[in-house]
Amino acid sequence: MKVGFIGLGIMGKPMSKNLLKAGYDLTVFDFNKAAVDDVVANGAKAASSGKEVGENVDVLITMLPNSPHVKSALFDKNGAAEGLKKGAVVIDMSSINPVESQNINKKLAELGIEFLDAPVSGGEPKAIDGTISVMVGGRQEIFDKYYDLIKAMAGSVVRVGDVGAGNTTKLANQIIVALNIAALSEAFVLCEKAKVDPQLVFDAIKGGLAGSTVMNAKAPMMINRNFEPGFRIELHIKDLQNALDTSHAINVSLPLTAQVMEIMQALKVDGRETKDHSAILNYYEKINNVIVGKK
Ligand code: NAD
Repeated sequence: MKVGFIGLGIMGKPMSKNLLKAGYDLTVFDFNKAAVDDVVANGAKAASSGKEVGENVDVLITMLPNSPHVKSALFDKNGAAEGLKKGAVVIDMSSINPVESQNINKKLAELGIEFLDAPVSGGEPKAIDGTISVMVGGRQEIFDKYYDLIKAMAGSVVRVGDVGAGNTTKLANQIIVALNIAALSEAFVLCEKAKVDPQLVFDAIKGGLAGSTVMNAKAPMMINRNFEPGFRIELHIKDLQNALDTSHAINVSLPLTAQVMEIMQALKVDGRETKDHSAILNYYEKINNVIVGKK
């Protein structure tokens, strides 16, 4: 099986390296030449355009910021769709609006190309370890055929429905993560102002009902004041915007998501959009005039 990979960023680079480790024949493309060189040094072949990747592979994985980037990589002049053969498969692992996944699926189907939307959760450390969680939308037959390929990058791979269901599941994931980080920030600001050490608070409660994977990942970052991404606020704004657009389109109200969206927007106004989403803490620090953790 010849595999293509477009999008070698924070997530795509380690994911593509895990495919190489598993022995897959891999052709890669990204605008960032340094990222391409790094993956090529690990055994991949470089292509000079999306079209050239498409010409050389049976299955193409995309790991790009948002739907405009995915559509551009596939359908622009010299894009991958110009090179892919009938019967090829595109697996988009980016987090995008589920309606856009369905639109891309329709366009590819007209060319005889199959599609799965397969966004991931877990962040850079799990992308490196090969333990990300993948939520997949698409036909069962295609899911079964490419399960092993996706599993080479992942700890769990679950089919959640037809095309679009993967990204709907990812929106659910992003709502839960965002609201958890906001709750943790609110709690830490309270403890700091009450002169109770956030590190001791974390140690005391992480094994109880409030404990979570989000808390284990983000509390140490907050306490050590390390806000380097990780997962950038600007990407989480994109996800919450997709959640709100999707919810409004199907007549659902998400009041807490809207509120955390505005907190992230305020951080963007403050120039902090490229920081990790744990920097939600900085919003609470500013309105409460307090600094949490190591000074
Ligand atoms: P990133 O910005 O680090 O990487 C994106 C890469 O895509 C860049 O290298 C960029 O040069 C490349 N690119 C953009 N447009 C391109 C095009 N048309 N052709 C070729 N290359 C192009 O982003 P990331 O953090 O790796 O995230 C990728 C996706 O995964 C996003 O949808 C994000 O929401 C999702 N995600 C990220 C994380 C995380 O922790 N970073 C976790 C889970 C999911």
